[in-house]
Amino acid sequence: MLLMDGILNFSRSYLPDKRGGKMDAPLVLTTRIDPKEVDKEAHNIDVSAKYPLEFYRATQEIKNPTEIEGIMDLVSSRLGTPEQYEHFMFTHGTTDIAAGPLKSSYKTLGSMIDKMEAQLSLANKIRAVDAPDVAERVLKSHFLPDLLGNLRSFSRQRMRCVKCGEKFRRPPLIGSCPKCGGNIVLTVHEGAVRKYLEVSKEIGERYSVSSYTRQRIELLDNDICSLFENHKVKQLRLSDFMSGSAR
Ligand SMILES: [Zn+2]
Repeated sequence: MLLMDGILNFSRSYLPDKRGGKMDAPLVLTTRIDPKEVDKEAHNIDVSAKYPLEFYRATQEIKNPTEIEGIMDLVSSRLGTPEQYEHFMFTHGTTDIAAGPLKSSYKTLGSMIDKMEAQLSLANKIRAVDAPDVAERVLKSHFLPDLLGNLRSFSRQRMRCVKCGEKFRRPPLIGSCPKCGGNIVLTVHEGAVRKYLEVSKEIGERYSVSSYTRQRIELLDNDICSLFENHKVKQLRLSDFMSGSAR
């Protein structure tokens, strides 16, 4: 069945030519699996029925996992022997191999901000977790790239006609759709750019993340403000300048 799937559903002629197009495509079919040829990660699985005391002692000393590889029964040490296929044990049994959450909180929680709050509230409860570090990582790997990306796409965005849906690389000079005369609107909105700004600032303060990260947020805040604030000069009267000195 697996072989048929490869033969029926695969053709080089319809692989996407984009980057990653060949990912997951069955370019090589093999009839025999040699554990030595499997991804290295699979060799790092420990298959003992219980952990030795030295393991727990090593965790207390925060040793590097590679230091205690010798005392752990890893798949990598069984390669080339019959044991590479047999007697894989586990530390905790289960009544159902498919047991577990059917839907993760990642799906049940709505917005990104809800997810962030949930993760941080968990981090606060677990003694082994450094909540400020979690906050910093989420900011660095999710919120900041999102803000930067949206800010960039705002200034390079295309325009769209509300009536006929025609897209334009630049806003037409006549100010309306040259095809149907409809209104031209933005395709990326201010809200999308600002989305995570407030929560990033809030979390950065609350968990006192590194000053480098806080400064990155501050710079982004400045960039976003300078893009969206109206720079039209306010019309002032001469008396506006005099009111201060008169007193
Ligand atoms: Zn149009």
